Amino acid sequence: MDLKALIRDIPDFPKPGILFRDITTLLSDPAGLKYSIDTLAAKVVDLQPQYIVGMESRGFIFGAALAYKLGIGFIPVRKPGKLPADVHCVEYALEYGTDKLEIHKDAVAPDGRILIVDDLIATGGTAAATAKLLQEIGANLVGCAFVIELDALNGRSLLPDVPIISLVHY
Ligand code: IMP
Repeated sequence: MDLKALIRDIPDFPKPGILFRDITTLLSDPAGLKYSIDTLAAKVVDLQPQYIVGMESRGFIFGAALAYKLGIGFIPVRKPGKLPADVHCVEYALEYGTDKLEIHKDAVAPDGRILIVDDLIATGGTAAATAKLLQEIGANLVGCAFVIELDALNGRSLLPDVPIISLVHY
């Protein structure tokens, strides 16, 4: 299936000069959504993840659907102040300034096998920060999966040495 045909390009969002890859048009297409989840599942099943960790907020959409498909658990990584129990927090660099992500300290049993899932990897900052959070709580990262990878930004170079799967490359 041609997933690129279902991903909408929005120039100059969220700021001038950025070409935003909009996955809402993929999500609303029944065959496209099903194909995306089924194909991700087929590509990651051999990694034998026990949990999917998805990042706020588009990582929740694909991550939760993929967890359901695989019959495994889903763990949210969120922006600061959203998770109610004790959290680990990691600060990471953005183009201008920094941002933070949090995970519940007790989210994963030690050595739990984790797959990180997000809609898109650009610079890799978000996924790398999530990998760091997982390291802090003693989880075992077995892979990362994305619907879209922006190859020119080489975000995967920031990630640990685990399999990295992307369905669509730009
Ligand atoms: P990174 O941290 O630079 O790799 O950016 C990835 C994060 O930003 C992901 O959580 C994406 O949801 C979001 N993101 C960056 N660019 C786009 C885009 O073009 N479309 C959709 N999401 C994007």
